[in-house]
Amino acid sequence: EAIHSTLGSDPIVRITALRKSYGANEVLKGIDLDVKRGEVIAIIGKSGSGKSTLLRCVNGLEQFQDGALTVNGRPLLHESAMAMRELRQQVGMIFQGFNLFPHLSAGRNVMLAPMLVKKRSPNQAAEQSTKLLARVGLAEKFNAMPDQLSGGQQQRVAIARALAMEPAVLLCDEITSALDPELVGEVLRVVESLAEEGMTLLMVTHEMSFARKVADRVIFMHQGRVHEIGPPAELFSAPRTPELKQFLSSLHD
Ligand code: ADP
Repeated sequence: EAIHSTLGSDPIVRITALRKSYGANEVLKGIDLDVKRGEVIAIIGKSGSGKSTLLRCVNGLEQFQDGALTVNGRPLLHESAMAMRELRQQVGMIFQGFNLFPHLSAGRNVMLAPMLVKKRSPNQAAEQSTKLLARVGLAEKFNAMPDQLSGGQQQRVAIARALAMEPAVLLCDEITSALDPELVGEVLRVVESLAEEGMTLLMVTHEMSFARKVADRVIFMHQGRVHEIGPPAELFSAPRTPELKQFLSSLHD
């Protein structure tokens, strides 16, 4: 089994016939998706199409009614607290809001989870935090408090914090949507560098030029289904369905 989990052909995330409802509202209507090791997948689609719900299912924030989900070959089982804890360590997530702990410095925000969950010593955690802050271009901000940082800097701290858990896959849910336009680039550059280093990424994004440049595959979600999936050059240049054509043209209005 240990050998299997290191094979590049095994998916990091396998989603099979996943269905999710809120009451009578079926939001995910049978999603199948394999995310390969090192793959970057961009999820696009109209508001309400189920993009965010899909990510939230993958990291265990939402329970689903039917289907199966495995991360690194291990099934996600809500009834097992231990399985959930393991899953959380494998799946990092970054949100639109940065959600840093306001009373902790940037460096300590990054140190916290490794100390609590991975039982790292303060020295080890501080050393790792220093390295990760440097990796996101914030080497000099270890002692800065979140309210002393710009939105772009806070989001980069949030990325460093997610990386500190050494996740197998990183989920990004519209991580630049709350940022002033001039701060979007610095965050996307960090994500692009992670992609270049081989991080497996599943990201909901409105940044089509970024998706086009960085994603290996793009998923167009429509009404709770994967409506189209393929390499960005194909989806953006030759959309097959009227729904995707309409979505893409709506972005230029
Ligand atoms: P997207 O990310 O594509 O905008 P969402 O996954 O956020 O779409 O939402 C998909 C659908 O699920 C929407 O119809 C939304 O109203 C519904 N929904 C999302 N979260 C909840 C919730 N916590 N309770 C009830 N309905 C929800």
